[in-house]
Amino acid sequence: MPFSFDLIKKDTVSCARLGKITTPHGEINTPVFMPVGTQATVKTLSPEDLVNIGAEIILSNTYHLFLRPGHELIRDFGGLQKFMGWNRPVLTDSGGFQVFSLADLRKISEEGVTFQSHIDGGAKHFISPEYAIEIQEALGADIIMAFDECIPFPATHDYAWESLERTLRWARRCRDAKKETGQALFGIVQGGMYPELRKQSAGALVDIGFDGYAVGGLSVGETKPVMYEMIEASVPSLPEDKPRYLMGVGTPEDLVEGVDRGIDMFDCVMPTRNARNGTFFTSFGKVVIRNARYERDEQPIDPECGCSTCRNFTRSYLRHLFNAGEVLALRLGTIHNVFFYLDLMRSIRASIEEGRFTEFKKEFLSKRENYDA
Ligand SMILES: [Zn+2]
Repeated sequence: MPFSFDLIKKDTVSCARLGKITTPHGEINTPVFMPVGTQATVKTLSPEDLVNIGAEIILSNTYHLFLRPGHELIRDFGGLQKFMGWNRPVLTDSGGFQVFSLADLRKISEEGVTFQSHIDGGAKHFISPEYAIEIQEALGADIIMAFDECIPFPATHDYAWESLERTLRWARRCRDAKKETGQALFGIVQGGMYPELRKQSAGALVDIGFDGYAVGGLSVGETKPVMYEMIEASVPSLPEDKPRYLMGVGTPEDLVEGVDRGIDMFDCVMPTRNARNGTFFTSFGKVVIRNARYERDEQPIDPECGCSTCRNFTRSYLRHLFNAGEVLALRLGTIHNVFFYLDLMRSIRASIEEGRFTEFKKEFLSKRENYDA
């Protein structure tokens, strides 16, 4: 099946939308959350676990896979899906964000970025927009991303503008370089924390023409109101008939607020990373499992959660596993947190379908706000 997006329903009160993305590896119901599988694995979970907790698409990181094991090796194994044993949709980022956040000695030129990697003893690498596409074509994800510059926060208006113009030239080069692989290519709205630059970026990307549009460069240290303002500055310029993806965001509250503003796709390391630290998301707030108050607690992490961890284990037992440094702790915690995020998206979709998203949002936020963690 070629890539397509069907807009099924638009909320009448908010900008929330219900949709379906079709890819060569299956369908994705939107709004969707994509668990992050940086190194071709969602840490501690098997593909079977991911299917069981309802993941429809995962995200993998081009930068990491390019450095290790190398995109050519993955191509020789038939692409990411075959390599990792996951036969559902995958999205790869362009590597831009990691080049700017993890690598050392970056040097940006019109041609691309030279950097020293963080894992192979500081070897020098060069990624251009064309090469970012070539790498992602070798990895073979269903959705690939244009190569962009992620500017530091805060950034001056001059720098944000200059970078945005370069990122637009790179976006055009990415689109021109892409071969007929059946992969969908998304452009990325940048523009720092300047609403008019965000609007300009979104409009120019639409003129170039992509299969979907992402809002990038957010959740980098700005306040929540600023983040929401930047989404609001970007989304109205994007076409209704293409998916919209908010990159690297965020908390459960952020997902609900993003959907409210017309976002269809999200990814974030929060559920997986927090799970490995023993911090769990629940319908009533956060549970920090090492807290002494859970020592003899016979309840599951979240009594309202239907995940296998909550159906089978007490807070007391999980706290013990974390304190004893047992690896099962990481796996059981990750199952719960990823399930919580995916279940939240299921509830969001049901509420849009039934025309009660705004009521759902109000109830969800008040329930989580009122908990004293
Ligand atoms: Zn659970």
